[in-house]
Amino acid sequence: MTRPADPARLAVDRSTPLDEVVAAVRAWLEEHLPRPWLEAGRAGGPAAVREVRPRAAYEEWYPVFAASGLVVPTWPVAYGGLDLPVAAARAIERELAPFHLGRLNPLGLNLAAPALFAHGTEEQRLRFLPPIVRNEEVWCQLFSEPGAGSDLASLATRAERDGDRWLVTGQKVWSTWAHVADFAVLLARTDPDVPKREGITYFLLDLHQPGVEVRPLRHLTGDVDFNEVFLDRAVVPDTHRVGGVGEGWRVANATLSGERQMVSGAGSGGVDRIGGRGVEHVIELARHTGANTDPAIRQELARCYAEERIRDWTNQRVRAGVRAGRAPGPESSVGKVHQGELNQRVQLLAVRVLGAAGAAWPGPGLRPEVRGMLRSRANTIEGGTSEVNRNIIGERVLGLPREPDPYRGVPWREVPRS
Ligand SMILES: Cc1cc2nc3c(=O)[nH]c(=O)nc-3n(C[C@H](O)[C@H](O)[C@H](O)COP(=O)(O)OP(=O)(O)OC[C@H]3O[C@@H](n4cnc5c(N)ncnc54)[C@H](O)[C@@H]3O)c2cc1C
Repeated sequence: MTRPADPARLAVDRSTPLDEVVAAVRAWLEEHLPRPWLEAGRAGGPAAVREVRPRAAYEEWYPVFAASGLVVPTWPVAYGGLDLPVAAARAIERELAPFHLGRLNPLGLNLAAPALFAHGTEEQRLRFLPPIVRNEEVWCQLFSEPGAGSDLASLATRAERDGDRWLVTGQKVWSTWAHVADFAVLLARTDPDVPKREGITYFLLDLHQPGVEVRPLRHLTGDVDFNEVFLDRAVVPDTHRVGGVGEGWRVANATLSGERQMVSGAGSGGVDRIGGRGVEHVIELARHTGANTDPAIRQELARCYAEERIRDWTNQRVRAGVRAGRAPGPESSVGKVHQGELNQRVQLLAVRVLGAAGAAWPGPGLRPEVRGMLRSRANTIEGGTSEVNRNIIGERVLGLPREPDPYRGVPWREVPRS
């Protein structure tokens, strides 16, 4: 039986002319967005919305947004979207932008979903994608291990078949939001007797079970974002395996390139998520503190501003390619390296512009700019380090020789590991 259409869902389809889509979005915002948010967005854009909209209130309201289909306009209706063409999605984004309607569950949308679209079964997509869109099931990523980060394919967590299910044992680390997540995309070794990339399988793991222990890690800013995850015969039904047994590396690549796009700002995640605010905020700050009269600061601001534009254009190229049906290529590595290093410079500049107020301030907790600067230190590590992404660019864009690997073709079991 098909579910009746939700009254909050936008009444548009692929054949709706663009101007009618835009009119429908405006009418939807007028009807469904809480008045103070609507007025703030109209008067002062995202910055004004941030002032009047606590995060908890946004999370509470979010199901109304999800029911509209506007969270993922290009996705099929059955998965929670509106099945609209890319041009309509772009017009929608422009309409929504002033109201700062960020997508919740970014790891579900950007990491799990690409793998399900590329390699999942229809049953898996119908089961998992709609609750991702509605933020009812929060996702995290269990890939990295204490001995497998940059060289992810050397991972040692093992999955053993037990009838129509798998038992997973091992340790994962740096697992962002695992302490609040319900499900994880997981890589595990199913065959140690073949070369490392050939013996990995990709699973969807339910985190609410006795074989899963999540231990939070506190980072530099004092916040808890990521965790260690210990797996002791955690159960995954075979129906939650994505792709063939031993084909997990191929499936993982859909997740990893989604991650690079997200972290580079080309996906639905934004600069806000990865440390601090954009350069416009720093320019505003410099006006406020008077630092904008310092020629060295002005030069640095201009340079960051120009680079942010370049980054946006690079991201737009990646997005346009993906929307046109091309797999994101090594250009997402270019964006990842640039975004990570640029954001660190922007956040450092924000603290420099603050002067003494960036070193001491009244009240408890960190100043947002200081928190942003500290958080941004991870930008050149998370989602693949800058060094490793430069290797990818060197090999796949510049055509340089591959990095030597003395263990190429050797069974994983025989490769020495730390
Ligand atoms: C904030 C944050 C969030 C994260 N979230 C997640 C998550 O949710 N899920 C998840 O699975 N993982 C997550 N990670 C892990 C992340 O993917 C790894 O930290 C990253 O891939 C690097 O691995 P590593 O830490 O083991 O460093 P290593 O691989 O040990 O690298 C150490 C150093 O050696 C360099 N290096 C390594 N190999 C090479 C090479 N071939 N050539 C040149 N230099 C090299 C690296 O660049 C680095 O400087 C997160 C990390 C951070 C910082």
